Amino acid sequence: MWCAKRCGATLPIPTSDSGTLPDKVRIPCKSCGAVLEVAPASIRDQVQKGKLVLEMVLKQTPEAAWIQLREILPTLLRLFPSSSYPLHALLNEALHTLISLSHSASTSQKDDESRAAFEFACLDEAARAALLVVASVQAGNGYCFAPGNPFRANVIATAGMVLVDCAHAAERAASPPHEACKPTLGTTSVDEGEDTAEDECKIAICNLKDRNDFQPALREFTTAFRPLAPFRTPSEEYKAKQQYASQCVTVGTQLLQQAHAELLIAFGKRDGGGQVGKAVSQRLHEVLAEVELAAKSMEQLTGATSR
Ligand SMILES: [Zn+2]
Repeated sequence: MWCAKRCGATLPIPTSDSGTLPDKVRIPCKSCGAVLEVAPASIRDQVQKGKLVLEMVLKQTPEAAWIQLREILPTLLRLFPSSSYPLHALLNEALHTLISLSHSASTSQKDDESRAAFEFACLDEAARAALLVVASVQAGNGYCFAPGNPFRANVIATAGMVLVDCAHAAERAASPPHEACKPTLGTTSVDEGEDTAEDECKIAICNLKDRNDFQPALREFTTAFRPLAPFRTPSEEYKAKQQYASQCVTVGTQLLQQAHAELLIAFGKRDGGGQVGKAVSQRLHEVLAEVELAAKSMEQLTGATSR
């Protein structure tokens, strides 16, 4: 489990040979020196809850599965590294659930704007889940997969694909400022200059909610992972999505390049890294032209803001 002081170190989960867990245990962090008081029973309960959700989501529709996953993920991510069990498996489920949901946008949403926003919301979350899964196979707690391991190579390839898809979805969801409507903020005030990070998150989520006809079950859609940079005006929203799209393309391309190199190790150069290797190579080919374009728009955007 993570050191609760967020120093980046991990601590052993308290266990008991006798089967009875004490109410509180004091664990010193070897990295930052903080002595942390933890309740072993509550940690055990969270792990059990995670295992239960994992069993349930395997039998559910993507909509129902996502509702369960988004409830449990923030708590488990605060407590454990993404390589831990059952968090790694839950993140993997979340990733594939969100990809399925993004594919359902064309049938579940009424108009083009709602479809684009819904698809972007799904892929934005999927990109965050994918990066956490990538982190878990490359920097696991105590062990991780070696470069060229087939599982690791496939995970990185999936993440690269999802990030590139997310970039496309962000571009489709970004309405030019004159067309976008101003966010309806309800009771949240943005003019007092005292917003907390939580308020800012609400602004981003409200904006997405108010402009689009989400299914009621998915209203709190963006709560599992950290949301896109907050924005307060249509032009900020537009700029944020454009910049985000450029960043996703850049990171996605790097992941696809890494995945391709590792797939060649995993499945052989002669076979072009197998089926996935060939698909990744094709995708890279297509996206390299877009990377050039994204870099140019980024340059223009930076030039415009610095003038
Ligand atoms: Zn620490």
